[in-house]
Amino acid sequence: MTATAPPPGRDLRVEELRAISEGFEGASPEAVLYWAAGEFGEEVALATGFGAEGCVLIDMLARVAPRLRVFYLDTDLLFPETYQLAARLNVRYGVRFERRATRLTLDAQAEAYGERLWERDPEECCRLRKVEPLREMLKGLRAWVTAIRREQTPARARAEVVERDAKFGLVKINPLAGWSERDVWTYVVEHDVPYNPLHDLSYASVGCVPCTTPVRIGEDPRAGRWRGTAKTECGLHR
Ligand code: SF4
Repeated sequence: MTATAPPPGRDLRVEELRAISEGFEGASPEAVLYWAAGEFGEEVALATGFGAEGCVLIDMLARVAPRLRVFYLDTDLLFPETYQLAARLNVRYGVRFERRATRLTLDAQAEAYGERLWERDPEECCRLRKVEPLREMLKGLRAWVTAIRREQTPARARAEVVERDAKFGLVKINPLAGWSERDVWTYVVEHDVPYNPLHDLSYASVGCVPCTTPVRIGEDPRAGRWRGTAKTECGLHR
């Protein structure tokens, strides 16, 4: 990079991003993905945790932007069903998932921080196993695509379709920001999109094994994550 070249993610100003985002409000997620692929090429990637929303975006990408990169954060603590879903998506769509993970093995983490860090300090555990690997991945990008929806959590309620991610210093694209849970599942059914079978066992939101439980009828969909604590986010979307 030359001294005069804009640093990654700073070539679209906040006002420009806001105008682009307003233009996409109410547009189809496919239109947003198509634009993202054209605008950023190899320097944009979809982050997926293999939730239903991520599966929907992968289905859309196969049609409108099949070369767009897709990555996931492997904490080494995901459910077997999640790894199996990744394999099914690979077969169905031919998508090559880029795996990102900490170099800290679970044994090394236990030695350095004590056993079952997720029980005593889930913030630190998420920082080590999710946030820092994400930061490393995003350093090489100008934009990332997420599957977040506004109605999921208070922290996501103000998400724009296209916005500046101040935390990680690049453009953040949320094609499903305005979608409801019903929109997601309607799409899954209509397009026969593969999804995690744990959703059929009352796991509304699926993360790491130690921090995910089923939800009861009437509970918030993310109530099963870090149950019994005030934590609702991994730290990826603040
Ligand atoms: S979700 Fe739980 S196990 Fe997974 S990284 Fe966060 S605290 Fe650790």
